[in-house]
Amino acid sequence: MPMQIETTRAGARNALAHYRATGQRIALIPTMGNLHAGHLSLVEYGRQHAERVLVSIFVNPLQFAPNEDFDRYPRTLEADCALLAELGTDLVFAPSTEELYPYGRDHTTQVQVPVLSDLLCGAARPGHFNGVSSLVARLFNLIQPDLAVFGKKDYQQWRLLERMTQELLMPIEIIGLPTHRDSDGLAMSSRNAYLTPAERQTAPQLYKSLQHMQQQVLAGERDFAALTEQCMNQLTQQGWRPDYIEIRRKVDLTPAQANDLTIDLVILAVAWLGKTRLIDNLEL
Ligand code: AMP
Repeated sequence: MPMQIETTRAGARNALAHYRATGQRIALIPTMGNLHAGHLSLVEYGRQHAERVLVSIFVNPLQFAPNEDFDRYPRTLEADCALLAELGTDLVFAPSTEELYPYGRDHTTQVQVPVLSDLLCGAARPGHFNGVSSLVARLFNLIQPDLAVFGKKDYQQWRLLERMTQELLMPIEIIGLPTHRDSDGLAMSSRNAYLTPAERQTAPQLYKSLQHMQQQVLAGERDFAALTEQCMNQLTQQGWRPDYIEIRRKVDLTPAQANDLTIDLVILAVAWLGKTRLIDNLEL
């Protein structure tokens, strides 16, 4: 069957009705497009764990603040569809903004996951996670997938959507998959395209710093505040502007305590290189 591309809710519903009537499991992979190998690993997982794979491509205005990169975010629908067809994707859902938010940004119903939406990236980007959860809740209601696959690169997003799904009693399995990296360790991201060649050379330092912190924790360092401060200072000296580097509990992203088991912790980081905001993390 050739891959189907639908841009309307009705079109997606019709295509899905057939899958559901024949008892086929549906995997959903929500994306903003400009697909790279990280996204494709999620699609591959869906392929292996469900009969039908649906990828949504939508640059969600609700999750961008007015001063952010909504307008310049790379949009490459044709190339994305070619990659997805090659992987055996069944359906691409690429709606317009009006299709998902017919009442307009300021009049749209929003879903908020408290606390988890305000920490870390949520503190630096107020409203961002409400935009994410409001979109994903809509996609879940429309598509009613059996499973939905997310990247742990966006660790907080994954945890928050897991919580939303559980609390809103949505019968959907939420999967989080490991971060895909370039050979030098840089986490793959559509925003890497914003980096200048010099910045691209510097960019792998972020992951290296996290690995360095990991080694220190594994060697017994328990003064997490000192460790993160040291890391922030070092990155700053190397020309970065860190938003945060934090050691948190994996399960709810609350601050790590000295007597927590190392295996329960994750290091989370956001730092700017020039005009580009890079995000990364490392599970201990
Ligand atoms: P985005 O298009 O950036 O919204 O990402 C769509 C999905 O792909 C999200 O679940 C991301 O966490 C995931 N993703 C993005 N980059 C990577 C990566 N390098 N490795 C694994 N998953 C990723």
